Amino acid sequence: MSVTTDTRPLDLLADFPAIPAGWAYLDTAATSQKPKPVLDAINRGYGETYATVHRGVYQRSADMTLAFEAARERVARFIGGKPQETVFVRGATEAINLVAACLLENRDSPHFLKRGDRILLSMLEHHSNIVPWQMVAEKVGAHIDVIPLTADQRIDLDAMAAMITPAHKLVALAHVSNVLGSVLDARRATEIAHSVGAKILLDGCQAVPRLPVDVAAIGCDFYVFSGHKLYGPTGIGVLWGRYELLDAMPPWQGGGSMIDRVTFAKATYAPPPGRFEAGTPHIIGVVGLHAAVDYVERIGLDRIHAHETALVRQAREALGQINSVRLFGPEDSAGIVSFAVEGVHPHDVATILDEANVAIRAGHHCAQPLMDALGVPATARASFGVYNGADDIAALVKGIERVTRIFG
Ligand code: PMP
Repeated sequence: MSVTTDTRPLDLLADFPAIPAGWAYLDTAATSQKPKPVLDAINRGYGETYATVHRGVYQRSADMTLAFEAARERVARFIGGKPQETVFVRGATEAINLVAACLLENRDSPHFLKRGDRILLSMLEHHSNIVPWQMVAEKVGAHIDVIPLTADQRIDLDAMAAMITPAHKLVALAHVSNVLGSVLDARRATEIAHSVGAKILLDGCQAVPRLPVDVAAIGCDFYVFSGHKLYGPTGIGVLWGRYELLDAMPPWQGGGSMIDRVTFAKATYAPPPGRFEAGTPHIIGVVGLHAAVDYVERIGLDRIHAHETALVRQAREALGQINSVRLFGPEDSAGIVSFAVEGVHPHDVATILDEANVAIRAGHHCAQPLMDALGVPATARASFGVYNGADDIAALVKGIERVTRIFG
């Protein structure tokens, strides 16, 4: 089958040394490959400019601290936030656990959950945006409610508006689904949450690499993402929170850097973001994340979004012509296509594709409740990044045609 393209390729493959010629890497939703400017920043960071931050009185450490805080400013600006609201964490998982522990579970928080309070999630959440809330709810005797999906597999905001009550203290939703690619109307979801006084956290893991994000325009309370899906290093991520909320939250981990003054009688704590950054941070992770943000902004998130939605359209069109393929998710998914081949386990699909040099993900994608709702044990998932083009889709489609031949 021939695949036609109406998109100009971004032609960035040469920036990615870990993608050899002829390899279709279609697993960016799990983690993205790293462009040279990020690799260079990491090398320079460890190989030329390395020192600790926030503590040293010598020049090298002062310079490293300036670079670290410049990265915070850059990352904050990237999502429309302020540096003092931008906390560096290990990743989205850690960010969500931090909010669950400090905002909801700690009795020193003005927003701590009480028995009978409720948390609102959606059917398509990643386990990272389910389990931390479940753990808190179990401890305090709170309840979790789940927003269903629309027929075209988006979070149903009409249903959300109908089911939310003043007992709901927190809403946590994916900005973009890691399985379906569905894009949330984040502003409307925020308005609905705020209409009953609930706080809202948005899981932006799949959104920040795929579309422009502005937390101020959205109006949300917390926004989280991982650096490694944004062409940056692993082990670094961001918790953005409204300053007054962060400022009212008690600390999470105790240790160096998060304090104001320590005696054996008592410790007092630093203001945000330092209060939530105990210990020596992932200094070069932060430097790498800065380079990653520069990289995607140089390309332009609008361009990346247009490119990836066009790839999705092409992939859905081509795969949709194969009789045994069932497609999941909405037509306008932001760079992610989940599908099933009738009678073939997704793991077998992915294995056969791997033989053809096409890397996709197969499994439950850390979204088992969504798999239950879709009525499948797993899906095959192709997800796109700035390095992908029509060739990759052609290779995917050829591979799926081979799968259907093998399984007859
Ligand atoms: N949420 C979503 C939507 C994700 O795609 C992922 C990563 N698959 C996570 C949360 C968790 O991110 P991490 O494992 O980097 O903490």
